[in-house]
Amino acid sequence: MHKIEHIAIAVKSLSNSIPLFEKLLGSPCYKIEEVESEQVKTAFFETGESKIELLEGQDPDGVISKFIEKKGEGMHHIAFGVDDIKEKIKSLKQEGFEFISEIPKKGADNKWIVFLHPKCTNGVLIELCQEIK
Ligand code: ZN
Repeated sequence: MHKIEHIAIAVKSLSNSIPLFEKLLGSPCYKIEEVESEQVKTAFFETGESKIELLEGQDPDGVISKFIEKKGEGMHHIAFGVDDIKEKIKSLKQEGFEFISEIPKKGADNKWIVFLHPKCTNGVLIELCQEIK
């Protein structure tokens, strides 16, 4: 893991939260992207060498809408950047970590992504991501 690539926050409304985070961080939202496979709309902000990713559910039955329904708005996951996601999955599995799915899929912001199961990481949802080259 070479850095915290981004911290993701589940929000009810991007149009309310984007101006809020622009004010808070003092940096403009530089990208809005819909990830259809996840039924989610994302908004990105740069902060130092990491990013903040806001997530708005697009489908009432999708993961983000369900998360907000259950827990309310708030921190959703922490993403660590890795150089070789397949290698990292293999080595973490050998250490006993479990993944929600072990097959990397295309996420927002041009990344291969995979999620560890929060039951093996103290309840925190952790994403690994690798830049698609
Ligand atoms: Zn993420």
